[in-house]
Amino acid sequence: MRIRIVEERCVGCVLCMEACPFGAIKLIDKEHELVLEKPKRALKLAVIDMEKCTFCGACVSACQFGAIEMEKEEKRGMEVGEYKGVWVVGEFVHGEYDKVTFELLGKGRELADTLGTELVCVVLGKGIDEHEPIYYGADKVIVVDHPSLENFLPEPYSKILVELVKEYKPEIILAPSTTQGRAFLSRAAVMLKTGLTADCTEFQIEEGTRNLIQIRPAFGGSIMARIKTPRHRPQMATARPRVFKPLPRDENRKGEVIRKEFGEDLLASRVKVISFVKDTTTTVKLEEADVIVSGGRGMKGPENFKLLFELSELIPNSAVGASRVAVDEGWIGYSHQVGQTGKTVAPKVYFAFGISGAIQHLAGMQTSDVIIAVNKDPEAPIFRIADIGVVADLFEVIPVLKKKLESLNA
Ligand SMILES: Cc1cc2nc3c(=O)[nH]c(=O)nc-3n(C[C@H](O)[C@H](O)[C@H](O)COP(=O)(O)OP(=O)(O)OC[C@H]3O[C@@H](n4cnc5c(N)ncnc54)[C@H](O)[C@@H]3O)c2cc1C
Repeated sequence: MRIRIVEERCVGCVLCMEACPFGAIKLIDKEHELVLEKPKRALKLAVIDMEKCTFCGACVSACQFGAIEMEKEEKRGMEVGEYKGVWVVGEFVHGEYDKVTFELLGKGRELADTLGTELVCVVLGKGIDEHEPIYYGADKVIVVDHPSLENFLPEPYSKILVELVKEYKPEIILAPSTTQGRAFLSRAAVMLKTGLTADCTEFQIEEGTRNLIQIRPAFGGSIMARIKTPRHRPQMATARPRVFKPLPRDENRKGEVIRKEFGEDLLASRVKVISFVKDTTTTVKLEEADVIVSGGRGMKGPENFKLLFELSELIPNSAVGASRVAVDEGWIGYSHQVGQTGKTVAPKVYFAFGISGAIQHLAGMQTSDVIIAVNKDPEAPIFRIADIGVVADLFEVIPVLKKKLESLNA
């Protein structure tokens, strides 16, 4: 980076001095000169103190005489062309894959095909099922299987991922936006000196470049930000569960399995897991339910959520969801919240009882297959995305629905 004052153009005004936030510009006396026909007079000249200058460019914009020139050296990024392949970081916890691994493989397959490259699934853990990612679309699986990786620990997980990236140089890495994915991808991105976009809801490949467009809601869901990492590789992003659809499982698919081993220097962690306790408080996980019956402020109070639990008991593989208002009011626990700051779900059927359909709520459920909304207000925004809209009092609809389900179950 270079900056200089063009002496012939500098008129000694103080605009640049005033604009500099770092006090890096002062005026000195210029030689006495003849200015046109006018008598000689003392002129001032701006000089830059390079010890203080940060090349912010404020002086360049302030100067009205084009007397400050700044040359930006083309920031040499890395050799982006050396990086090839799409990676999905799988989540294998206590003997099973989280479904989100297969969802990301579905999207990863699409991106890899667009780029004409391979799709690789990287899995760290213990007792890893090596072939499952191949059945869901991967060309290769890189497996790091070790007893000390049984429980997720951010330190060894991120160090190992970094080592693998240095060796194989993938151009894209997608990981689940789960507690695990968020914790170690961010560390790995810092170590690799590249960017990371969290909580994406869509990915595209930019035409003409191989840049990954990472799309995610921003500013409370009021805009969809399109983010790219043109000068650094790998391009890293996490994506929310239940946003992408997995490909159908195909046991006939063939692929390569690469087993990697690492020494104690990478496997060691300053954190020790003492025990693992499985959450058994919920019978059906919200994200895995086929049917979700959700309630909002229209439920009027905690006692009425009982109606939704009764309804859910009549529907196989169903769970109860809620809007943030219902959670904030303390009517139901946070683990039931659907939306931008809650869970993202995509069940086969989503019932919205007394939920207005704020954008932050829709962000968490709009990809549901069928949305059934019950609301007293015909203008409620939820009706814009509902497949079936019932303009009615939910306290009249729920008993009728219950009765019908009871008769069907009898
Ligand atoms: C940064 C941020 C993040 C957020 N994250 C989330 C999030 O993750 N999830 C979320 O849900 N919200 C979230 N919100 C809040 C969101 O903006 C809304 O305030 C919230 O979703 C509204 O909840 P609601 O629909 O239950 O309540 P309301 O908007 O008050 O709607 C209640 C609805 O119930 C209907 N109704 C009332 N009585 C009856 C009846 N007897 N029968 C039928 N219908 C009836 C009304 O007509 C109304 O449409 C977030 C907000 C911000 C700013």
